[in-house]
Amino acid sequence: MTRTVYVNGSYLPEADATVSIFDRGFLMADAVYEVTSVLDGKLIDFAGHCARLRRSLSELGMPSPCTDDALLAIHRELVARNGLVDGMIYLQVSRGNPGDRDFAFPDASVPPTLVLFTQSKPGLADSPQAKVGMKVIGIDDIRWGRRDIKTVQLLYPSMGKMMAKKAGADDAWMIEDGFVTEGTSNNAYIVTGGRIVTRNLGHEILHGITRAAVLRFAREAQMEVEERPFTLDEAKAADEAFITSASAFVMPVVAIDGVPVGSGTPGPVARRLRELYLDEMRKAAI
Ligand code: PMP
Repeated sequence: MTRTVYVNGSYLPEADATVSIFDRGFLMADAVYEVTSVLDGKLIDFAGHCARLRRSLSELGMPSPCTDDALLAIHRELVARNGLVDGMIYLQVSRGNPGDRDFAFPDASVPPTLVLFTQSKPGLADSPQAKVGMKVIGIDDIRWGRRDIKTVQLLYPSMGKMMAKKAGADDAWMIEDGFVTEGTSNNAYIVTGGRIVTRNLGHEILHGITRAAVLRFAREAQMEVEERPFTLDEAKAADEAFITSASAFVMPVVAIDGVPVGSGTPGPVARRLRELYLDEMRKAAI
């Protein structure tokens, strides 16, 4: 079955979907995005992703392509047209096509470009990796200073993934001024002294939608949470480590720079949080 995608008001076969070479997303990485998971044909935490999209747009003074209700309708239409059961919906808004290349933002008459497409991942919630955990390496964080805005400037995170692959690992945790910021496409956590520790929010990290939900469920389950920076050495000596993201949910980290974390197998806190998150979010899916 050929995939149906959405571009600026039209549902098209993927091969017929196009965006101008002058689009500012293409030329300037002047675009923001969201990735929403789909489980059993339903959207996970759609409201959270919409709220963050609004914030990204407003921080960059980028016009909004449509209302949240219209976005929900497009997401649902793409799920239906593609028969999507488990997977993700990628959404991107760029500052549009001014018809030429110029550093200055175009005036308000240029409409934003809105693109959405589905990615099918059968059995997304039963990923084999959740049972064995993942390995990470530490790398320098040389990204720009507004990582709280979810822009498509993903070159360095892509390079980080490649550095991890080359080192025989699955992902990289980035380090700035001696402290872990986050993973290349996820938020980073450790469990130490009976507490879940994750970096506090700020411009240094993306405010993960999964992070917000997982911390809420952890606190509701009387688990102690500490939002503060931690070093890679503290992480290597921790009892557990894990990451969260909209498509990986809660994923145990079992080794850092080749050093086993705790027992070197997925820990009880990460396993419990993964279950809690998936159970609660499936119930609330729309
Ligand atoms: N940090 C970065 C750098 C990311 O790219 C992502 C995933 N988009 C996350 C954290 C996790 O965010 P979320 O839980 O909203 O997917």
